[in-house]
Amino acid sequence: MSLQSIIDDIAAEVAPLVGQGKVADYIPALACVDPCQFGMAIYTKDGQIYQTGDAQTSFSIQSISKVLGLTLAIDHHGRQLWTRVGLEPSGDPFNSLVQLEFERGVPRNPLINAGAILVADTLLEAYDEPLEQLLSFIEQQTGSEPTIDSDVAESEKATGFRNEAMASLMKSFGNLQHPVDQVLDVYFKQCSIVSTCVQLAQTFGFLACDGCQPVSGHQVVTSRRARRINALMLTCGTYDRAGEFAFEVGLPAKSGVGGGIVAIVPNQMAICAWSPALGESGNSVAATEALRLFTQRTGLSIF
Ligand code: GLU
Repeated sequence: MSLQSIIDDIAAEVAPLVGQGKVADYIPALACVDPCQFGMAIYTKDGQIYQTGDAQTSFSIQSISKVLGLTLAIDHHGRQLWTRVGLEPSGDPFNSLVQLEFERGVPRNPLINAGAILVADTLLEAYDEPLEQLLSFIEQQTGSEPTIDSDVAESEKATGFRNEAMASLMKSFGNLQHPVDQVLDVYFKQCSIVSTCVQLAQTFGFLACDGCQPVSGHQVVTSRRARRINALMLTCGTYDRAGEFAFEVGLPAKSGVGGGIVAIVPNQMAICAWSPALGESGNSVAATEALRLFTQRTGLSIF
């Protein structure tokens, strides 16, 4: 069966789940997104694109941006980064403050909010214009210039009290170098980047090709780094359901509260599934099921 028929079948099969769950209304600008949308796209190692449903509809990438921030941060800081942020799954909600206090301002991993805020701080050290750097990184992978949804960024800023608290806590422990406002500005804006399933699958192609861009072969990160980023996605990429996600889907992945999930089949393809309504853990209900069906149908899994 072709990849195209597989994803078309999956889109039909998950249709009853689309809209089940809740859009992320703690960010007011995301509360008005129509929950009844579903898209899925695949970008293969040899540059083929397969897509179904609303795969060309733009959505807020939210926490998926954390992997991109991390990619730029390791590129600049190397191993030094791990003195300021950990490598372990948190087992706590993505915006929990408790663990951060207990562990003296060192976030458990770079893919929870505190970790990504810390990474944003390191990007301010590394680059004069960290956001421009992130946007141009995406453009280099997709060939098109991404945009930031300023309504979403403003909305996050107006209501991001927990993120402010985390940043202040890290600052109080001496783990944040820049002013809280400046770091959060980068963090909120990177979360507010908009993209589509097709563009996100293309953006993440390098993680499916040992660190090289599919087709051009351009080395984006070393193959060791690509493996390590994939390892973090597997263990920490889907909030405190990373264990269940590895069990059910079996692929490195990163989800965002905009309803997108990017998953990597090493040496084969990057996949993005999207549907805005989220389950209890913050992962999209229909996108998670679509990825589960995909690995079940194809037998593709890292295990
Ligand atoms: N901008 C969101 C927040 O800070 C990101 C959450 C997510 O997608 O996990 O809460």
